Amino acid sequence: MEKKNIDWANLGFGYMQCDQRYVAEYKDGKWSEGQLTEEASITMNECAGVLQYAQTCFEGLKAYTTEEGHIVTFRPDLNAARMKDSCLRLEMPVFDEQRFVDAVCETVLANEAYVPPYGSGATLYIRPYMFGINPVIGVKPADEYQFRIFTTPVGPYFKGGAKPLTLCVSDFDRAAPHGTGHVKSGLNYAMSLHAIVSAHKNGYDENMYLDPATRTKVEETGGANFIFITKDQKVVTPKSDSILPSITRRSLIYVAEHYLGLKVEEREVLLEEVKDFAECGLCGTAAVISPVGKIVDHGTEICMPSGMNEMGPVTKKLYDTLTGIQMGRVEAPEGWIQIIK
Ligand SMILES: *Cc1c(COP(=O)(O)O)cnc(C)c1O
Repeated sequence: MEKKNIDWANLGFGYMQCDQRYVAEYKDGKWSEGQLTEEASITMNECAGVLQYAQTCFEGLKAYTTEEGHIVTFRPDLNAARMKDSCLRLEMPVFDEQRFVDAVCETVLANEAYVPPYGSGATLYIRPYMFGINPVIGVKPADEYQFRIFTTPVGPYFKGGAKPLTLCVSDFDRAAPHGTGHVKSGLNYAMSLHAIVSAHKNGYDENMYLDPATRTKVEETGGANFIFITKDQKVVTPKSDSILPSITRRSLIYVAEHYLGLKVEEREVLLEEVKDFAECGLCGTAAVISPVGKIVDHGTEICMPSGMNEMGPVTKKLYDTLTGIQMGRVEAPEGWIQIIK
């Protein structure tokens, strides 16, 4: 397979149209066979459910080339299960979980020329998504849907090392109690845009959202979960029903316990206690872990002891072990690596 002539190391995180994408259609109560297509554009009615009432959800995962030369993806079964949960919450039809995994593999294989080589730092980002497509004007779920998957090569997240981020405690809320914070839906992102644009204008990289009911507990950022490391090397991660259950965070917790022998606590984390932690990181598929150096709570600066130059030592160990598992350098727990080719 001849790879595309792409400058892998200098790719950013943007959309590059690949050759093939997957599409299945839901109509009359059932999903069509599903197929690959070269057509990247979607034609829909002006009154499509997704355009009027935002009935859509998505997933995000990556394919990459391992040290041995396999093309693999990481725990796609968990993306399938999470998309099922999103669909149920948004009154959308579930796409069978095994079919989801098969369709991911089929789409990656069809775009093999875009899967970055081992060692380039780049990956093939995979975006499964679903939306209501028939006209809906009275507020109700659509009757017809499309499930699609496209891919796009993305560059190394940390060019020239992982620089710790500066966050601000947001005055906006990300998710209400009993709302949709735990599902991966476009609506959670639409309403976060104003908050992130404001944060950037003020010189911050990301927002730290608090629980909206009491504004005393740490939830997450717009698109990544928190992990904290205590001064005695325990891993602490916030527990809340309105946090999106990050697959990266769940994997890191397993790695902490089973590979690194660290104690893990999943519990409510008060903003009040953040100043006592030794390290802080943001976890998600895009970066695996981004270190946090500073959190600004209005007038007060919380500076992590790990500083503004590099990842903290425990965060680094977690990062190296999980990326080692993903790239085939460290033995993976059973079922974590889906070999595509
Ligand atoms: C996708 C997402 C994450 C990260 O989840 P991963 O499965 O680790 O990629 C975290 N928070 C939000 C709000 C998300 O949408």
